[in-house]
Amino acid sequence: VNCRQIVELMTDYLEGTLSESDRRRFEAHLTRCDGCTEYLEQLRTTMKLAATSADQPIPAELEAELTRVFRDWKGQP
Ligand SMILES: [Zn+2]
Repeated sequence: VNCRQIVELMTDYLEGTLSESDRRRFEAHLTRCDGCTEYLEQLRTTMKLAATSADQPIPAELEAELTRVFRDWKGQP
């Protein structure tokens, strides 16, 4: 599992919709990847803000933006 795949699973993880096996792989990756741990915290905060301000799911544009920011941080295409 690489960081890119982890990022794609993050919203599902926070929404609690990951399967048991995916969740295990996700959490195993987080224990050895500071970048993804930090990113998850940012995403969690963002989603919490979105939920409290509008009671709506995170907009697709915002999710895309977060993914882009993460790619820049990671230096991956
Ligand atoms: Zn990672």
